[in-house]
Amino acid sequence: MSPRLTLGLAAGLTTLGLAGWLLIRHQVNTQASSRERECETSIRTIVSAIELYRSHNPRVPERLEQLIPRYLPEIPRCPKAKKDTYSESYLVYQTKYTLFCRGHHHRRENRPAFSKTQGWIRE
Ligand SMILES: [Zn+2]
Repeated sequence: MSPRLTLGLAAGLTTLGLAGWLLIRHQVNTQASSRERECETSIRTIVSAIELYRSHNPRVPERLEQLIPRYLPEIPRCPKAKKDTYSESYLVYQTKYTLFCRGHHHRRENRPAFSKTQGWIRE
């Protein structure tokens, strides 16, 4: 094999390897962010249920279990943690509340997070 051919082959394999690695990394990232989006969807579902509860009651619920069964069939699970990470994080102050995915299941600890006053907390 000529040195030029060997060099060309090596360069080709390196490029393929890099492309493959980038593709895998992209898929892993996409999967991670889609799980995070599903987690946000779970939080959104809970927030809608809280708001519906609030429209029928003088206060927001003290605990998320109070939403069951009338406003929610069950507390959704974080798709990554595969469990309810929200009940423990739910904090109420008068008509305001915050809710997040408790733990380090996504890119940042205790995210996604939603606040009644601030909306989605991104930082
Ligand atoms: Zn989560």
